[in-house]
Amino acid sequence: MKILNQIAGGDGAAKFLLGLEDAHTVETLYMHDKELSLTYHSTVCVSSQVGCAVGCRFCATGAQGFIRDLSAEEIFGQVAVCDRYRAGAGCPPIDAVVFAGMGEPLFNDGNVTRAIEKIAGETDIRGFELATAGIVPKIRGLTGFVREKNIRLRLNLSLHATTDEQRALLIPMTKKYGVKAILDAASDFAEATGTTARVRYMLIKGVNDSDADIGRLTGLLKGRPLKLIISSYNDNNMNGLSPVGPLDVLEFYSKIRDNVDCDIFHNFGGEVLGGCGQLRQARKIS
Ligand code: SF4
Repeated sequence: MKILNQIAGGDGAAKFLLGLEDAHTVETLYMHDKELSLTYHSTVCVSSQVGCAVGCRFCATGAQGFIRDLSAEEIFGQVAVCDRYRAGAGCPPIDAVVFAGMGEPLFNDGNVTRAIEKIAGETDIRGFELATAGIVPKIRGLTGFVREKNIRLRLNLSLHATTDEQRALLIPMTKKYGVKAILDAASDFAEATGTTARVRYMLIKGVNDSDADIGRLTGLLKGRPLKLIISSYNDNNMNGLSPVGPLDVLEFYSKIRDNVDCDIFHNFGGEVLGGCGQLRQARKIS
């Protein structure tokens, strides 16, 4: 695994473009939370696939299509690259690995769970987080793995919609799983593992940012062991989708926070093209 490109930002993030043996490339992000504002303070965000088959309309990786799964060793290798970087930069030991880079980790769940076991077995890293577009049967399978192996893993569900129709437009591949079904699976995961799952909701101008969305989100999330994380669309100029402004995010947050456990997402890595697929895409273009 070779470092083909590396960008370090002043916000404590560093992004790597890594070359694999078959000449494909993946992206990996290291984040040092100097302000101690996040759950984990020294984190690696790994890719689980080259490209991605889910094809979310807002995502640069999705637009590049699926190429192949990463092996457990290639996932572990990304952690090793970041560990060398953080040691050289004088950052604290890595405390968590987040599966939120390129790819849908639950479409490569065999290698992802093998990588988690390898990381937990061969390093001092004990925290894991996994972001998914919401593959219901795979979330249920992951619940069994986490409980059996006693792994500390938080689920991060990319919701981004309040109706099945709206979600089918943004994340077409997951349309066989309705919004309620994926929230049920995430809630069951959280209850079974004693965690609070994160529900990511990215505001896209004129698509999912209305008062009606706030009403539906409140009804969908109230009383569940889920925490809503609100952000603005990280503008990749994809498919004509537009971000909302910071004040719109604050307004959405202030209208929903009394009824739903929620927070605003801290956009780490924006200076280093932190959105998934952006570094790889930038290199292709240049
Ligand atoms: S957001 Fe994630 S699941 Fe969706 S296309 Fe991009 S990499 Fe795949």
